[in-house]
Amino acid sequence: MQRPELAATALWRATCPDGWRVEPINLGVVAAHLGVDILTWQPDEERLNGALIRSAKTVFVNAALTRPRMRFAAAHELGHYVLGHEGDFFCPFNRYATLEREANRFAAALLMPTAVVKALWLKLSNLTPAAKLSALAERLAVSRQALGYRLRAVGIAGDAPVAPQRA
Ligand SMILES: [Zn+2]
Repeated sequence: MQRPELAATALWRATCPDGWRVEPINLGVVAAHLGVDILTWQPDEERLNGALIRSAKTVFVNAALTRPRMRFAAAHELGHYVLGHEGDFFCPFNRYATLEREANRFAAALLMPTAVVKALWLKLSNLTPAAKLSALAERLAVSRQALGYRLRAVGIAGDAPVAPQRA
């Protein structure tokens, strides 16, 4: 496991003693454990998903996002905080910058812990792959896209629907 994943797993274990029975992961409990406030705001720049003001121990999430995207943005900013990324952050979607990638990996692991994803995926085994993806995304309050990435990351990609290959 890489560092963002380890940090997210440790935080999940510390804050969700009921483990995978807690769905979706309660970000309020996680933030309270860290002493961080999560607030919504309407940024002047629409492309901003979230922000971290480290000195104020406050995470801001763009109120215009859908609930799954707000949760991912909040978890992403908590990632910057927990991983010790220095300074304040104002985050547009950027999967290429190193710190942004780390925060995204943290957020995915926090919202979709490996043990939870694997257990629920098995529980839903009577559904088609597409229906499983939708059901699991809903239970974990994450986007189908984020879940799709996560399934590949935890090694159950073979079961998940993938875009057709081009010749
Ligand atoms: Zn960021």
